[in-house]
Amino acid sequence: MGYRINVTEYQPTNGRDKGMLHSPELCVGCRTCQLICSLSHDGECSPSLARIDLRAEGLRFEAEFTEECDECARCAFFCPYGAIKEGD
Ligand code: SF4
Ligand code: SF4
Repeated sequence: MGYRINVTEYQPTNGRDKGMLHSPELCVGCRTCQLICSLSHDGECSPSLARIDLRAEGLRFEAEFTEECDECARCAFFCPYGAIKEGD
């Protein structure tokens, strides 16, 4: 079964200023978050352009949101594993 991304499915509201939260215990390192971030902001699927960095720590993946993250929350919407949420 495939996973299809339709970027028009989600209309972001920027400037929420709540912060984004990543849960390593749910993350499988699929990089969908990076692909949707770079595709929506830069027009190409490239993890190196994404505003979320992922790094493997043993069997876990830790994420950090960069200064350029505008908290559009697309990555949270499209993460297939519910590993990203907006802050409260
Ligand atoms: S946060 Fe979600 S979309 Fe990003 S690598 Fe982890 S599981 Fe995949
Ligand atoms: S919330 Fe930040 S990391 Fe996530 S898609 Fe938007 S800009 Fe990219």
